[in-house]
Amino acid sequence: MKIVDVTTQVFTYTSKIVYDADGHAHPGPEHEATQSLLRIITDEGVEGYCFGADPEPIQRIVKPMLIGEDPFHRERIWQRLKERQRLHLGLLSDRVLAAVDMALWDLAGRYLNQPVYKLLGAYREKVKAYASTMCGDELEGGLNTPEAYADFAEQCKERGYKAFKLHTWMPPIPWAPDPKMDVAACRAVRERVGDDMVLMLDPYHYYSREEALYIGRELEKLGFYWFEEPMDEHGISSYVWLAEQLDIPIVGPETAEGKMYTRAEWIVRGASDISRGGVWDVGGITPLMKIVHLCESFGVRMEVHGGGAGNLHVLCAMGIPGEYYERGLLHPFLDYEEPPPWLHEIVDPMDDEGYVHVSQRPGLGLNINFDYIEAHTIAKV
Ligand code: MG
Repeated sequence: MKIVDVTTQVFTYTSKIVYDADGHAHPGPEHEATQSLLRIITDEGVEGYCFGADPEPIQRIVKPMLIGEDPFHRERIWQRLKERQRLHLGLLSDRVLAAVDMALWDLAGRYLNQPVYKLLGAYREKVKAYASTMCGDELEGGLNTPEAYADFAEQCKERGYKAFKLHTWMPPIPWAPDPKMDVAACRAVRERVGDDMVLMLDPYHYYSREEALYIGRELEKLGFYWFEEPMDEHGISSYVWLAEQLDIPIVGPETAEGKMYTRAEWIVRGASDISRGGVWDVGGITPLMKIVHLCESFGVRMEVHGGGAGNLHVLCAMGIPGEYYERGLLHPFLDYEEPPPWLHEIVDPMDDEGYVHVSQRPGLGLNINFDYIEAHTIAKV
């Protein structure tokens, strides 16, 4: 089997999510937005798909490299793309590698008529989810006060979530960040939901050492489960300093570049207690599984960053915890259970007990609405 074409199809949809000046998602007025579908096409008629790829690097770098390749040579393709990043990182990001790698895994699953998590080596069919909120806002009835977070945590508990993670207030909100407000929100949530709900915090990512230590000590008093990315992740020494002083597990790195190499250095330095990575952070399923095995070898837990089909399939192939699936981002104004118009169903359905179930469909399990995509396509290359 050979790859004969690689296309990206850009189409429009109506979105209710807007991005603030710092790039954080919030609910907003309906407006037209775009999405893209990456399609890897073979001479045997089998195709693999992934949403969210930037067409330019796909067409300029990826397509010439993939034409003629065996799509089952995922490791070889990933290694070649990784080497090409050295002089082309501005265009060939880890997100591009991730989209290509996930489309290749999807293709393999569709060809073999098996879900990806079984190709990886299945461990389970369902994973506990935590409700992962959007960042704080200034919307009345949204996530604008500590009480608003408590209200929303209570709603999530009633929906079946056993765990809840706050993303608190960040710039460009004029008064943010504010460590005391973060702690106030965490306290309001704990007091509302009681002791039996697992709680985590993912606050502003550029606090000082002292601010991070203050928040971490307050979280320990509130019985929080983990503390995530309170400082710039390039400062490994700062994380070593913080982790030495806190009992609450520090989770990271999440956004720091460097794939499995960075995770290895954090483990060796003792910069965090629980490692972290998601398909979009590290360049796909292929490298994320390397990180899973790295963590297993060191006896270190690893929590997967972000939702989506790729992360869910990896979670269902992890022999070590990997305890939670990050479901979101959630907000009181948005209905997460409603599929986006390019899918017939969401990829991460959750039962009343708070477990997300992996799809048994072949590949990544995306039930794609091709008619919608065709009808709304504005560019195809
Ligand atoms: Mg995070």
